[in-house]
Amino acid sequence: MRISVLTIFPEMYSVLNESIIGKALEKELFSVDIHNIRDYSLNKHKKVDDYPFGGGAGMVMTPQPLHDSITAVDPEHKAVRIYLSPKGKTLDQAMVKELASLDHIVLINGSYEGIDERIIELDVDRELSIGDYVLTSGDLASLVVINTVARYIPDVLGSEESTSEESFSEGTLEYPQYTRPQEFMGLAVPDVLLSGNHAEIAKWRKAQSLKITKERRPDLKVE
Ligand code: SAM
Repeated sequence: MRISVLTIFPEMYSVLNESIIGKALEKELFSVDIHNIRDYSLNKHKKVDDYPFGGGAGMVMTPQPLHDSITAVDPEHKAVRIYLSPKGKTLDQAMVKELASLDHIVLINGSYEGIDERIIELDVDRELSIGDYVLTSGDLASLVVINTVARYIPDVLGSEESTSEESFSEGTLEYPQYTRPQEFMGLAVPDVLLSGNHAEIAKWRKAQSLKITKERRPDLKVE
């Protein structure tokens, strides 16, 4: 899978070199190419923003550098082009899985007050939000998309980490996890986890998972 990122803050993506994602990129299990929108500006000062028509606070990203950078990374419009936006559909695990099945996605990052609406009409397939709050630019949202999508790319997670049985994989939140020592500050690990009885352990985990989900996320509607 290929992920192309269009941004005016390419340095923000250095975190991709770290941890599991960094190793996966090194092994070329997927690729991320980052492009500075400013490099495509035809303005002699490489300007990418201007005042909003109609007035109001802030600046708006101009269409030319966005259109040219999108066309440069996806000339035949074969990729799914995504504009990160608080007005988009909110990212969830089902969407993450679907995005991970695509060959090429282009992540378009706005800044200032956002981007000229005509780019959304002309060049964007989907708008995607990471939650009901406003970020200063789309880049942290893009990093969230890259991180979550990468976890579904084959071999990115080691055998010890898995996308099965984790929160949202079955529509529920995960059961509590414990490790050594058996007792810590007077708190013991539940006996069932030490029993070696796998059927009982699975039953306990399922019950815990349902309990936590009902308590914390009634909107997930589990039986
Ligand atoms: N004026 C816009 C509005 O009220 O909807 C907000 C613009 S925001 C300051 C700048 C950029 O950050 C947006 O163009 C978008 O790319 C990104 N952004 C902000 N919040 C986001 C969110 N919740 N999810 C995804 N992207 C977001």
